[in-house]
Amino acid sequence: MIIDLRSDTVTQPTPGMLEAIANAVTGDDVYKEDPTVNQLEKYVADLFGMDQALYFPTGTMANQAAIKLHTQPGEQLICDRWAHVYNYEGGGVSFNSGVSCKLLQGDRGMVTAKQVESAINPPDFYHSPQTSLVTLENTTNKGGGACYDLKEIEKIRTVCDKNGLGLHLDGARLMNALVARNEDPGDYGLVFDTITLCLSKGLGAPMGTVLIGKNKLMEGAMRVRKVLGGGMRQIGYMAAAGIYALDNHIERLAEDHQRALEIALLLKSRPYVKKVEETETNIVIFYLEDSVKEEKFLSDMSEMEVKLSSMGEGKLRLVTHLDYSPEMHEKFLGILDNYK
Ligand SMILES: *Cc1c(COP(=O)(O)O)cnc(C)c1O
Repeated sequence: MIIDLRSDTVTQPTPGMLEAIANAVTGDDVYKEDPTVNQLEKYVADLFGMDQALYFPTGTMANQAAIKLHTQPGEQLICDRWAHVYNYEGGGVSFNSGVSCKLLQGDRGMVTAKQVESAINPPDFYHSPQTSLVTLENTTNKGGGACYDLKEIEKIRTVCDKNGLGLHLDGARLMNALVARNEDPGDYGLVFDTITLCLSKGLGAPMGTVLIGKNKLMEGAMRVRKVLGGGMRQIGYMAAAGIYALDNHIERLAEDHQRALEIALLLKSRPYVKKVEETETNIVIFYLEDSVKEEKFLSDMSEMEVKLSSMGEGKLRLVTHLDYSPEMHEKFLGILDNYK
């Protein structure tokens, strides 16, 4: 029994999901003739009350497409210094869109309206890049699964409106936030211009992210996806997994959150742990005492068939998910309790 807590992307499709995949009706999605992809896109657009949706192979490609749709080369976007679009998308912001990032020092990956406002370059000052987009992340990955306060997002929207900026949400784990905060997806559809919703994280599908947005912005989305190499053919097999995930795997995210919280509470009580970040959803970030070597800790864990990931600077991360069973949870808590 290997307990793999490196990420919520390590899950295997469930028997029910495999059945949905096997029974999918498909067509060529580049011709927009795959009924299951079309159904998934309508499902997600309707769920958030947004005009249009487009299915992408990965969250990275969907975020990159959104940034391309919002910006012109030479412009600048504003994001937190821990943002996935800045840190973990291979420099795609500059590679794909020719755009730079103005980084804000937020709280656990979350920025405030005030910070955003003061980061906007004056539009008539032609020496500096023109600010055109704000991208937020909810929940935050590097910030430890932290959830935004919707009120703060609404304030950021107001700042964007006043300054003619687009507002994009990297919602790789948006469903975790909605479940944790008991929020309505429609409220997110109202406040953002574009949102990416990942199906292959906590929701447990093998692949896929849906980009949703307003008609005007989404006009060029098919072309941008094609340019990035994301036009796929009978991909309804994977869209069927996404539909299955949305039908069956949203409410259960609360179980992942509960287990993550139990792990965090136990870690807090252990002498080898220096600090545990506040745990709101399915990500636990913690730091070891200086006397405990990170490499040794990780290799000890790996000997006990537990996998975690290091985020650098002494920061360790673990993520609970669909394939982290109650039996694994019990065993893992025991391991942490007894570790010396
Ligand atoms: C995982 C993730 C993505 C998308 O990653 P892909 O592996 O390309 O699907 C985007 N943003 C955040 C915050 C993520 O955690």
